[in-house]
Amino acid sequence: MKLIPIIGLEIHVQLNTASKMFCPCPNVDDGALPNTAICPICTGQPGALPALNATALEKGILAGLALSCRIPSQSAFDRKNYFYPDLPKGYQISQFALPIALGGSMELEIPEQVLPGRENIKIGITRVHLEEDAAKNFHAPQGLNGRPATLVDYNRAGTPLIEIVTEPDLRSPFEAKCFLQELRAIMRAIKVSNADMEKGQMRCDVNISLLEVDGQGFPLKEKLNARTEIKNLNSFRAVERAIAYEVQRQTAMYEAGTPPVESTRGWDDNQGKTLEQRTKETSADYRYFPEPDLPPQDLSEARERLVSELPELPADARRRLETEWGFPTAAAAFFTLDEAWQNYAEEVMGELGAWLESTDPKLKSGGDILMTRKAELAKLASGWLTSKLAGLLVERGLTISQANITPENFAEFLTLIDSKVINSTNGQKLIQLMMDSGGDPSDLMETHNLGQNLKGNELSDVVKRNLEANPEKVADIKAGKMQIIKWFVGVVMRETEGRANPIQAEEEIRKQLEV
Ligand code: ADP
Ligand code: MG
Ligand code: ZN
Repeated sequence: MKLIPIIGLEIHVQLNTASKMFCPCPNVDDGALPNTAICPICTGQPGALPALNATALEKGILAGLALSCRIPSQSAFDRKNYFYPDLPKGYQISQFALPIALGGSMELEIPEQVLPGRENIKIGITRVHLEEDAAKNFHAPQGLNGRPATLVDYNRAGTPLIEIVTEPDLRSPFEAKCFLQELRAIMRAIKVSNADMEKGQMRCDVNISLLEVDGQGFPLKEKLNARTEIKNLNSFRAVERAIAYEVQRQTAMYEAGTPPVESTRGWDDNQGKTLEQRTKETSADYRYFPEPDLPPQDLSEARERLVSELPELPADARRRLETEWGFPTAAAAFFTLDEAWQNYAEEVMGELGAWLESTDPKLKSGGDILMTRKAELAKLASGWLTSKLAGLLVERGLTISQANITPENFAEFLTLIDSKVINSTNGQKLIQLMMDSGGDPSDLMETHNLGQNLKGNELSDVVKRNLEANPEKVADIKAGKMQIIKWFVGVVMRETEGRANPIQAEEEIRKQLEV
């Protein structure tokens, strides 16, 4: 019997609104002093009434649209009842029957293919709903007067979340990670959240079961098996590891003839294990009922307006970077992960495009040659941006916005490389100098003598000297071993520290040897 993983995700994303979901308190992060952003509403005082933050609603709808969901004409809030110290009202205001978005999907390209036939997959989005976050508990072993205690910080209570629920369409830990990375990129592109998992701005529950399939991978039955739900994973790595662990654990249970029952588990990052928390609660356990203090929302006006305001999404941006500029797929994916990187790369290419047209008037009319040259430059640019520039920034702990090199100067640098005015070894040095000084690449190249600028005499002198110093090798060349010419080119390049042009050097060697 073969078993494959069936995975569905529930993701909470914190919305970056200025104030909380139902009260005017500021939506602060962990940096704020505990219990300084609270009021009677978000601490659940009797008689305090919630009022909906219109921006939270709009950001939620925008997220729904970006995930290709249908936005119904009406949504409403419900009370989800459970008791926990971080939930002062004894219920969470959430959405159950009438969420803000339904029935969407996300297209994913899986870069390094793990499972055949799943290079381009479509993951169903069941729903997106709004809800308020809970407060934060701190378990303090030395607590108060040296006794263990639980402290509660209500700053996070009532801050706005969206919950995104996927269909059980994912099939591997890697696919789940790719989905979350794409989701983060989308949330950033539409500016509703920075969706940083390490900061708790995006948190993920993983639902996973195994399914019996035949040799071709077709399911042997229609109904899915019982799943376990792993709660509150807060890094991509934890998601991948927890799924991989759970696949193993459940496989062993099937093999032992005792398949898993529905349960809720937690992830212990140190032990690298999922641990049983409780048997799974169902929606009946929460006794959902309509929130009487908030009227239902009419979404039709916001829906029309926000559709037209939807910015370019990462998948479209990737496609555009590939087709418009000719960026390689991997580079396009890298740039579109971060708006600042994308803008930088596009500005560099804009400059290069203008330069191309200025070097050759024929290119102005567009056409195939322009595209070919653009693609060549895009490839060159990708290499220098993603490996060299990105590497230097990491070394220096800087973001691309803090780079001391303007896109104009970076493009100029690339024209020097492309025209072979400087070789790539010296190019590496030049980039460091540009980063250190913020200076102009042509000026820096001149002052530090990095260009392939050997004057006619200098080149012929170096060649002459080396030919005279190696009479046996010269004799070998004369005897027909032409590959030794390359050895001389290498010597000349080394001696001139890359300032010679290798093609000119070879010409000079052949000229002097008359071969
Ligand atoms: P809840 O967890 O709140 O009870 P649902 O029953 O709607 O909500 O399921 C939530 C998530 O579990 C969804 O992402 C769904 O795709 C996933 N899921 C449901 N059934 C299975 C299953 N048998 N195996 C794996 N994932 C599942
Ligand atoms: Mg759940
Ligand atoms: Zn408040």
